[in-house]
Formats: sequence, C-alpha cells, structure tokens
Amino acid sequence: MLLTIGLEIHIKLKSTNKMFCQCQNEQNFDHLLPNTHICPVCTWQPWALPTLSKEVLEKALILGKTLNCTINETSSFDRKSYFYPDLPMGYQITQLYHPTNTAGDVKFFLNNYTTEKIIHIQDAHMECDTAKMIHNKGEAMIDFNRAGTPLVEIVTLPDFRNPEEVIEFLKELQRIVRFNNIADADLEKWQMRVDVNISIRNNENDPYGTRVEMKNINSFGMIKRAIEHEKNRQEALYTKWETFEQQTRWWDDTKGESYLMRSKEDALDYRYFPEPDLPTLKLEKEILDRLQNQKTILPHEIIKKMKETYGFNKEYINALIGDKEILDYFFEIENLFAKEGNESWSKSKLIAKRISWPIVARMNENFKTINELAFDKTKLTEFLTKAQEGNLIENQLKVVMQEMLSTGKSASEIIKEKWFDAPAINNNEIEALAKEVLEENPAIVDQYKWGKTTTIWFFIGQLMKKTWGKTNPKIAQEIFEKLLS
Ligand SMILES: [Zn+2]
Repeated sequence: MLLTIGLEIHIKLKSTNKMFCQCQNEQNFDHLLPNTHICPVCTWQPWALPTLSKEVLEKALILGKTLNCTINETSSFDRKSYFYPDLPMGYQITQLYHPTNTAGDVKFFLNNYTTEKIIHIQDAHMECDTAKMIHNKGEAMIDFNRAGTPLVEIVTLPDFRNPEEVIEFLKELQRIVRFNNIADADLEKWQMRVDVNISIRNNENDPYGTRVEMKNINSFGMIKRAIEHEKNRQEALYTKWETFEQQTRWWDDTKGESYLMRSKEDALDYRYFPEPDLPTLKLEKEILDRLQNQKTILPHEIIKKMKETYGFNKEYINALIGDKEILDYFFEIENLFAKEGNESWSKSKLIAKRISWPIVARMNENFKTINELAFDKTKLTEFLTKAQEGNLIENQLKVVMQEMLSTGKSASEIIKEKWFDAPAINNNEIEALAKEVLEENPAIVDQYKWGKTTTIWFFIGQLMKKTWGKTNPKIAQEIFEKLLS
C-alpha cells in the first residue's frame, strides 16, 4: 500500500530575547540553573502582559520568506487552552486562525541530488514554548527557562511518500534555518521537534486513509523506523479488515514500538480563541519592503548551481553543503583564486576536491570547525596554484596538504623542505655525481683506502646534497663501495 506522510515541525528560533518578554533566550538552557531566566510574563503571572519581540517577528518573517510563503500583512495570535503543569495559566499563545506565513513550498533534492521534489507548506506560524517538566526519582519539577521561548511551527501538506523524502526535506529545512541564522535546529537537542502524520491507501487517487500522529521522535534514524513500523502496523490492521480511529501515538525507539497516547474520542478540546492581550499584527509597508529586499540563502539553489554549473559530484556537495562555515570558506577561496586570474568555473572543482579531502575529513576527525583548523585561506590559494602548475604528483600534493594542516606552514615552505621541487634523477646521473664527490675530496678518499671505511658516510651525505635528498642511502653506499674498490 501507498504511504502518505505530513509533518508538523516546531523550530526553536535563535533570538536574543524570549517571544513576549525581555528574558534571555538560548538555543540550549541545559548549562544554566533552572528558573534563572524568567519574569512575570513568561511565568504567566495574571497581571503581566505580553509584548511581541521585534527580533522574533523578523526571524519568523525571514523563515516565511525562505519557505516561499505568503507573508500576510494582517495576522493575529490565538490562545490554545489545555491543562498541564508546564502551562500554569492553562493556555499557550499560538496562531491558528490567521497565521502570519501561509501557503509556501520547499524544493529539495533526493537520491544524492539527482531528483527534485517539492513539498507544500500549509503555514508556518509563531508559537511560544511551554515550561519544561523534569522527572526525577518520583518527583516532577518545572523549569521555566524554556517557557515563552519563540517557536515557529511549520505544517506541511501530506506530500511525502516515503521516509527518505521526509529525511531529505528535514535536512534541507535545517540548512535553510542554519544558513539564514534563524535557528540551530538540532533534532537531538530538541531544537527541532517533528511530529509525523502517517496514513496508507491503495492508490494515489484514493482518499487519504485514517491518519496517525507519531510523537517523541528526535533523530533521522528514529523517523525512518517509526514510519516503517507504523506502515506495517496499519497494513496489518487493514489486512484483518479492522478499522481504527485517528489517533496520536508515542514512539518508543528502544523497543521499536508505539503506544496509544490518545484517540480522536478523547482528543483535547483546545478551546481556541483570539488572544485578547495582543493586538492584531499589522505589518507596515516599510517592514514588508525591507523583507522583500532582504537577501536570503536558499541551499537548494546553491546545490543546483554546484551540480549544474560546477559539475560537482555528491561527495563534493556533501562536504560543502553540510555547514555554512565550510560553504563560506569555499566561496572565499573561490574569490581569492579568481583574483589571481583563475576565473573559470572548472577551478571550483579543484577547490571542492581539496576541501572535501583532507580539510573536511580532518575537521570531522578532530571535531573542529573549518576556521579553527590551522589553515590560512591565502595558503590554500597558494597551494591550489602550485597544484595547478602540475609539477607535483598527487601523492606529493597529499603530503603537502597534510603537512600544511599539521604545521600551518605554507605549501612552498613544505615543498622546499621535502625537496619536492628537485628535478628527477636517474642512476647514471647519481653515479656521475658520486664520482664528482670523490674527485672533490681526495684526502678523505685516501683515509678510506687506509682502512677508515666509516668515511663512506661522509661521501653519502655529500651525494645526498647534490641529489636534493633523492638518492636511496643504500644505493649510494653500493655505488661508493664499487667506485672505491
Ligand atoms: Zn520572561
């Protein structure tokens, strides 16, 4: 049977302050003591009033733009009411009836950048996070540091047909929010929370099957396992002619099973109504104009260019697109290289090749960012120029790069040290040079002939100098023994 999947993704925005107060916002509160970044607003004191942060709004608008959404001039906030200890006033501020960003779409690549897919976005609405419950040895504690931090919830249409599409889409979404400095969106750190809606049907033209929402998923591996498990579970039910209700299930990844959280019957009635403490949000023309002119980065476009214009393979794209710092580094080197009169796009391939190995490999081994590695950009440019001259073989180039990374020296310094710039030499030439050494040192030759055979090491040393270190000492020894016999 055919899978149909839709997503609801909460992304924690990277802003200085929380959504409706001046308290500090953090992508991670783990390193802070609980309840140290709180105020009457984010602890929902009855008399405290929320004020929307301009920065949060701007980040949400940029996100809307990168998702190709319609940015609505007029939008509003709503109250979502439910009772839970992490929400002491009994409501959360969100956008249900008139979200700011609606009807978008995201293009991304599948199957190692060979096929393109488009996913439609229903809306990307602002929402403020709840407090965090901490359960410890039978005790439940509440940390309000997270309360009132800004989220955007992105709701997609059920456009996905398999787990791979979901994962590649989420990777693209991570790149979008990271490259545009909107969020860190680390799944493992719950900076991006994904609820997966899964249903199955026989044909693409059939109506959607009953949908099941899967929660508690925080890695790509978990997404794949949860979807596959749920598909099999639903198929088994349909095979037995059993029906089931729309429901929410909890994914237990260690057991590889899901549990019923609530069915449609006991679905919560959230009693949504317009938030009376916040006015209708009207975006001034100036804000909309500024947003229009603001430059945003669309990773999909960059990948497309790498693929179609630069002709990069998947290894190069993977190495460059995983991290904004690496991508910036690549573009800077490209600029530096171009300044030296190497404009052609084909040179970009050379740069990508050297960045993907050994630079990115070394980064990953040492858990360092590209800018933390001892690798000056002008030095890489110099190396690339040397590589292009074609005087060094690939193995030598690799040695030079490794040395550059370990020592921070320049390519020309290392080439000199390693005698890589010396001309090639053959055995006849070596023998001729060895004869020269003997002719230049008649007194030492006499010493040798009188029995001081250790002087042979002096001759070998001299020969090494004359051959730029390119002679094998053992061969040199044999040559001298022959000449001196
Ligand atoms: Zn606060």
